[in-house]
Amino acid sequence: MNCPRCRERDSRVIDSRISKDGLSIRRRRECQKCGYRFTTVEEILREGLTVRKRDGRIENFDKHKILSGLRRACEKRPVPVEQIDMMVNDIVLELEARFDQEVPSDRIGEIVMARLKPVDKIAYVRFASVYRDFRDIAEMEQVINDLKEQERK
Ligand SMILES: [Zn+2]
Repeated sequence: MNCPRCRERDSRVIDSRISKDGLSIRRRRECQKCGYRFTTVEEILREGLTVRKRDGRIENFDKHKILSGLRRACEKRPVPVEQIDMMVNDIVLELEARFDQEVPSDRIGEIVMARLKPVDKIAYVRFASVYRDFRDIAEMEQVINDLKEQERK
């Protein structure tokens, strides 16, 4: 990379730091000609995740959809906004770790539900009702009964 001041090509690395998440490295460099110091960032470029819908269509993964789904489910529940943001980040990291590129849409829902369950039971049931598209009250009852069952254990 050229020196931003004199365009010289050669620079010397004087310090390297790996980011907390381990996904990028910042390098402090010094121009060999004029001594100017600058920083470069090296990071892993990921291909964007895509989602395979139930009907087979492929679309770009959009974390804002998860965010709005979670916000809706958590409306008027004692779940802080920061916690929702953190859940979304964790979900994205989990998807990126588990899937190479293409994620089946129902797996996203399952992962979101697994994260939401220990946080807020009502929000969990709300999310499940939208995501699983409950057809009648019996299906909702089933989810609630499962929750009760687990709480007893
Ligand atoms: Zn220079």
